[in-house]
Amino acid sequence: MQFPHPFIQELQAQLGNEYADFEAALQQPPPVSIRYNSVKFPDFPTQDTVKWCAEARYLPVRPVFTLDPLFHAGAYYVQEASSMLIGEALKQTVDLTEPLRVLDLCAAPGGKTTLLASALSSDSLLLANEVIRSRVMILKENVQKWGFPNVHVSNHDPEDLGKLGGFFDVILVDAPCSGEGLFRKDPDAVEEWSPENVQTCAGRQKRILGAAMPLLSAGGILIYCTCTYNDAENRDSSAFVVNSGQFEEVRLHLPTDWGITAKMLGYQCYPHKVKGEGFFLAVFRKTTQSDSFHYNMEKNGRPRSFKPLHKKQLSEISRWLKEPDDFSFYEKPNGDVIALLENQKEDLIILDNLLFAKGLGLEMGSFKGTDFIPSHALALSTAVSDKLPRLELSESEALQFLKKENLMLDAPKGWLLVTYQGLGLGWVKGLGNRINNYLPKDWRIRMEIPE
Ligand code: SAM
Repeated sequence: MQFPHPFIQELQAQLGNEYADFEAALQQPPPVSIRYNSVKFPDFPTQDTVKWCAEARYLPVRPVFTLDPLFHAGAYYVQEASSMLIGEALKQTVDLTEPLRVLDLCAAPGGKTTLLASALSSDSLLLANEVIRSRVMILKENVQKWGFPNVHVSNHDPEDLGKLGGFFDVILVDAPCSGEGLFRKDPDAVEEWSPENVQTCAGRQKRILGAAMPLLSAGGILIYCTCTYNDAENRDSSAFVVNSGQFEEVRLHLPTDWGITAKMLGYQCYPHKVKGEGFFLAVFRKTTQSDSFHYNMEKNGRPRSFKPLHKKQLSEISRWLKEPDDFSFYEKPNGDVIALLENQKEDLIILDNLLFAKGLGLEMGSFKGTDFIPSHALALSTAVSDKLPRLELSESEALQFLKKENLMLDAPKGWLLVTYQGLGLGWVKGLGNRINNYLPKDWRIRMEIPE
């Protein structure tokens, strides 16, 4: 693989006589790693673990993940190992047993959202935001697969979130960057790289950070990360945060055998020292007291875009959830029913009033007359009731279901939660002599399944 000359010069300047090892590492195949969803899949294998993430492991070869029903059930997420350091940064800087309001500002496709969701307490609120509308779909899909009812999605430019000044305790800015750290994983990143693009990314990052900083409460934690190496982005954006006079850098304690390089501000993973890709991370604490969030709940305490579900529908809805008393149920103007966790209802009503493009709460489904049609998100949710009728499938049956093919199986009449190794994959409706497959069309496996 050939690299652009200015890139080589910058990395030679950063690494000195280590540069040859760095370049040799870039010629090696990238390691493959996955991070388990321990709520859904608690008995995960623990060999070849990633040093800084107990729920993650390296795989000896890259399987075809599409052909693994557990991948579709949200049992794990395929994630590059270096970026899992976010979990360690959180552990060292916030009390993860406390309920926190957390914003993942640049969230699609949602890898770090799933990591944050697993790290936070279940009574924390996590808002995964993505500005590019076409990327919100994949973000929603990954959030739904992970299945945590305390994770919500929005579609805003960071600069449009100003009304949430002082609202969040933690903000992750996984910034759009020049992607130098992905060169060996994604050769297109080399093609797209240019010094001009580095400058564009650097400018964009400062704008995003500038919009993020006021959204944090006093003492709040800002995590900035990229998958690149250059100083124009990593060092200068970090300096921009500190030079605002409102933040101090927080140093982390990272064991030397992890191979992570401490910089003046932040930390860099280089692939010749870490089993992972190029990744930069810096953590800051807000030192100013000025930004606190104010909201008049008495005046605006009612949701704007949904209304409480009719009482007579509550008993039907309740039976679909493990702990229905933990939720309040609402109906959207289009008839969709959502469930909001009781302990974050107030915050969600605030978000509903202050944000326009959002998907709050757990999508439950909708009523057709007295019949309730469950949503796909409910099948994948960790909150779905374990008392509902289920249809456990073999691996080949599960793949047939995921291709949205018709299943020739004996099944009782009515809604059945289709499972693989006990994990929800979707819904079918038993009709006596046949089964209707309710997998959403957009979610189906498109590749041919080998015999
Ligand atoms: N956090 C994601 C994950 O772990 O899966 C990856 C995020 S990716 C590095 C950066 C994201 O920032 C992309 O989804 C991109 O669409 C978004 N983005 C691009 N321009 C942006 C902007 N001006 N403001 C905010 N986000 C932007």
